[in-house]
Amino acid sequence: MVGKVLKELKARDQAIIATKVPPGRPEMIDQMGDKLIEEEFLARLDQSLARLQTDHVDILYLHGIGDPEMLKRPGLLAAIDKAKKTKKASFVGFSTHRGMSECLEFAAQDGRYDVILTSINYSMYDDQALLQAMKKAAAAGIGLVAMKTQCKQAWYREAQPAETKKFYEGDIWHGALLKWALHLESVTTAVPGYTTFEQLEADWPVAFNLDYTPDEVKFLADRDVRLALGNACRQCGGCAVSCPSGADVPSLVRAHMYAADYGNFPEMRRALDEIPTARGLQACTGCGECRAACVRGVQISRRLAELKAIFA
Ligand code: SF4
Ligand code: SF4
Repeated sequence: MVGKVLKELKARDQAIIATKVPPGRPEMIDQMGDKLIEEEFLARLDQSLARLQTDHVDILYLHGIGDPEMLKRPGLLAAIDKAKKTKKASFVGFSTHRGMSECLEFAAQDGRYDVILTSINYSMYDDQALLQAMKKAAAAGIGLVAMKTQCKQAWYREAQPAETKKFYEGDIWHGALLKWALHLESVTTAVPGYTTFEQLEADWPVAFNLDYTPDEVKFLADRDVRLALGNACRQCGGCAVSCPSGADVPSLVRAHMYAADYGNFPEMRRALDEIPTARGLQACTGCGECRAACVRGVQISRRLAELKAIFA
């Protein structure tokens, strides 16, 4: 869609295009030599450029980095260096929605990365490790792009009484949370992501006015809302060892989020496909009562039951 629209409008030079290329799962790339890692990554970049109908992207992200070790892989470093040298990418970086503070700390020291696409939202307002790491990265000259900014509604739907839930639906919700992320000094911009025109219309005015409305101030200060934030998944990985079958619980919860909160089923499918089969939804099929436990209060069993129901 992006490639077609930009071509028809002849607007390539007026747009900043980013693409995310997955480096491959760690257990897979452990078995590949550096040369193969580099070649496969660059081949996937070429496929992306072909789909976008352009010869370069402005930002190339290593996609889904959750461990700084991945940012040291010689094959990946060679690939992003080559992408820059051949002018297929103007700036390079990575996206992260797990282990964010460790990855950001590493990047701030490393000096190789220009841009980082990081999860950050109001449910993380007290995550000092992440907020400090973001400050360090920004001080090192790295552009921070915020994603998962609205932390969406599963935690709220599950935790809020009906009266307040009704009051906060719609524009108040989207405006308050998107503005909160954009008010962080370390954040350069945000990619809230749209699945519907309704979401686009709720977010778009924020680009022109970051001032909170009285209702948005009320929402952010609401004690019930702040209490309910405990039910928002931060992708901290704390539940990773709680499943007796070894399922990748944080990734399953994230896949649920794409479906239930964004209504984005293709993204849910992609998130599920990134999980090794034996640790994905297959592990949960035939499992009765979910015993996975969150360190914060996320109702994992409820969310995984909903995820399983989608495939029933
Ligand atoms: S479900 Fe809870 S423990 Fe698991 S990643 Fe999310 S916040 Fe962390
Ligand atoms: S449903 Fe079963 S297999 Fe799936 S996460 Fe819960 S305990 Fe693990």
